[in-house]
Amino acid sequence: MPATDTTRDGERRRMLKDIRAAFARTDMPFGLDELDPRVMAALADVPRHMFVPAERRASAYRDKPLPIGLGQTISQPFIVALMTHLLRLDPASRVLEIGTGSGYQAAVLSRLAAHVYTIEIVATLAKLAAEALARFGATNVTARVGDGYGGWPSEAPFDAIIVTAAPDHVPPALVEQLARGGRLVIPVGIEEQSLMVIEKSADGTARTTTIVPVRFVPLTRES
Ligand code: SAH
Repeated sequence: MPATDTTRDGERRRMLKDIRAAFARTDMPFGLDELDPRVMAALADVPRHMFVPAERRASAYRDKPLPIGLGQTISQPFIVALMTHLLRLDPASRVLEIGTGSGYQAAVLSRLAAHVYTIEIVATLAKLAAEALARFGATNVTARVGDGYGGWPSEAPFDAIIVTAAPDHVPPALVEQLARGGRLVIPVGIEEQSLMVIEKSADGTARTTTIVPVRFVPLTRES
């Protein structure tokens, strides 16, 4: 477990306040009354400024998405908190992330799960994220470059899968690679998307719940 970084603690506390405010403003489905305190503690611990480009560090703790280069973005902290909450991780969980981007979401997941597998299609971003994750001290994250549409069959099944780029349909391989009792959290749609949770029950059937409208970069495919 990496040591807690206490630099910019005050800004992180303000970010948590902004996340709570954004949550309160958003129309949530019945039963989703508060964000898991363990998720909020993980967000309080991860130095987001280590995952954004140097010229964006001053804005690192605003509750906004930020450009990370190559046309990609690090998600808004509120969305990171909400998606992480919806995964319902426990310390034994094995998680797959599609869209490593800056590595920030993977760092948050690494605080809450046993192991994180993460796939990024843009090699330059994958390299920068791997460096940031190493500096952060995450030892339970395995990252690779590739198209995450097909998941990571050799490491399946996963207790939780998070997709942080938007496809226009749910990739069937990701549902297949979900363990029974597992959850897939994914934005689906073109331009505007719906954040969806797909739960696989003990008998293997999948149930979909739509949470909120969101906006993500598109999931691209290897040609
Ligand atoms: N989770 C990231 C946010 C990433 S933005 C973070 O915390 O910073 C979405 C990322 O998904 C981009 O970096 C983009 O290059 C990547 N991506 C898009 N299509 C992909 C695919 N098919 N497989 C893997 N990564 C993909």
